Amino acid sequence: MTGLRGGAHGGGAYDDRTYGDGTRAVRAGLPEPAKNEPTLPGPVFAAHFHLPGEPTGPYTYGRDENPTWTHLERAIGELEAPGKDVQTLVFASGMAAISAVLFSQVRTGDVVVLPDDGYQALPLVREQLTAYGIDVRTAPTGGNAQLDVLDGARLLWIETPSNPGLDVCDIRHLVTAAHAQGTLVAVDNTLATPLGQRPLELGADFVVASGTKQLTGHGDILLGYVTCADAGLTASVRRWRKIVGAIPGPMEAWLAHRSLATLELRADRQCANALAVAEALRGRGGVSGLRYPGLPDDPSYKIASAQMRRFGSVVSFTLPTRARAEGFLAALRLVDEATSFGGVRSTAERRGRWGGDAVPEGFIRFSAGAENPADLVADVLHALDESAA
Ligand SMILES: *Cc1c(COP(=O)(O)O)cnc(C)c1O
Repeated sequence: MTGLRGGAHGGGAYDDRTYGDGTRAVRAGLPEPAKNEPTLPGPVFAAHFHLPGEPTGPYTYGRDENPTWTHLERAIGELEAPGKDVQTLVFASGMAAISAVLFSQVRTGDVVVLPDDGYQALPLVREQLTAYGIDVRTAPTGGNAQLDVLDGARLLWIETPSNPGLDVCDIRHLVTAAHAQGTLVAVDNTLATPLGQRPLELGADFVVASGTKQLTGHGDILLGYVTCADAGLTASVRRWRKIVGAIPGPMEAWLAHRSLATLELRADRQCANALAVAEALRGRGGVSGLRYPGLPDDPSYKIASAQMRRFGSVVSFTLPTRARAEGFLAALRLVDEATSFGGVRSTAERRGRWGGDAVPEGFIRFSAGAENPADLVADVLHALDESAA
């Protein structure tokens, strides 16, 4: 395929560690400029590729590889591990990526450690793993409690910051303990994005994420990815993708790549907005359990500021009752009541309505968008007052 830059493992000119995040984001994964070609080649819609004679790659059948994925995979790899030789695999969703790592790496009789306060579909994954004879142990994200249940584990799964509780754990510390006894470590990097945290640099074997959230940031596509530096581990995840076929469409992959160019701009505004909202909510009547890893008095702040470069767009807090939380959500004008997070338009929801998370009835997960900070803060405070009346 013409126009693809770098070797088989990426390693392009723009993953240089000396460039700033914005520079790397706008150039990530782009092919070498070629006369009369677009900067970012359009989506390649192909179920199969011309393939006379011996069936050799890179592009044979659309479930295995697609040039639009290749560009996006290089881009994500450049952001997750600048200057490093890594491979990225894109998936149809974050859950497809998570399942691909877990189900490709563990066998009957293995021990897996999962967070007990992570993404709401993890309990379903746990049930499925257990049904296959895998011993699943769980631990909370904060306080490095994973260490107590790590003994003999094949794989440690970390989600930091955790969704929706926003606890943070020390990735490097846990990786060191895990590797000392031969345990693999996967980190769900959804909340942080690669511009907020680089788990591979902290020693993790796999970084896994939903690209549905802040990575792509417009609330219009589902996507997932796995990035890994080990060729053997990558091959086993790639094989799983081929078996299960949980692949993204070329249009989704292309839209995701297009969105990466603004990742730094979005992340900077959204993080600033999240901090502004958290600061505005701090100490307000009726608000308890306020969490944002970027607030200096947050329990997550110390570790977060040591291992993260941005603190994400999500703020969580609890209002006294379910009715007060519903009234608050209804009174917001700039914030849509919706699930998911990380989009350019602020969203919020009463997380307890799903029944999956261990949270109080009045618990709100708030995702700061890219609105002007003064407008957003004013809207939030107005809704808080109105719901109290
Ligand atoms: C949303 C989310 C997922 C699942 O991603 P999908 O793209 O919805 O499948 C996994 N982990 C975390 C932390 C998430 O927030």
